[in-house]
Amino acid sequence: MKAGIYPGSFDPATFGHLDIIKRAAALMDNLIVGVLKNNGKTPLFSVDERVNMLRDAVKDIENVQVMSFSGLLVDFARQHGVNVIVRGLRAVTDFEYELLMSQTNRVMAPDIDTIFLTTSLDYAYLSSSTVREIASYGGDISKFVPPDIEDIIRKKYKEENR
Ligand code: ADP
Repeated sequence: MKAGIYPGSFDPATFGHLDIIKRAAALMDNLIVGVLKNNGKTPLFSVDERVNMLRDAVKDIENVQVMSFSGLLVDFARQHGVNVIVRGLRAVTDFEYELLMSQTNRVMAPDIDTIFLTTSLDYAYLSSSTVREIASYGGDISKFVPPDIEDIIRKKYKEENR
């Protein structure tokens, strides 16, 4: 069984993330999407909200499981008997950070490898922070996230502005 973990903040999940999930799931028997709980930044969405949004968005992909984790990614991977980490690469700006992370993880856990999927050109520019910013000004985010996630984001900003 070849299993992988795709970790991230997913605050919120976008079409870019979903594209990586679909493509990674097609390469593996099982893919765990790991939603990070303690990432230092204060997220817009709670970890439960992020997990639920993703679960709903990937419900039709049979071999994908969404769960939250805190602490070291390599420990989370070991707990689940997984030795492949999947990350998405958009542009050279992602490269340096991703390289450092994967090398650090490899020093901590030589048995775990990181593989990178390059983003589909359609989503190369897309990030969760861009989506949050546009939504915070009431802009149209329908090209960036699925309709259910769009509704949740809109509700969140309505609550925040109340
Ligand atoms: P993190 O805070 O760990 O970077 P993100 O949720 O921002 O978490 O991203 C998770 C992963 O998804 C990262 O590997 C990131 O490079 C990748 N990713 C983010 N947006 C896109 C996109 N539009 N296309 C492809 N990969 C993406």
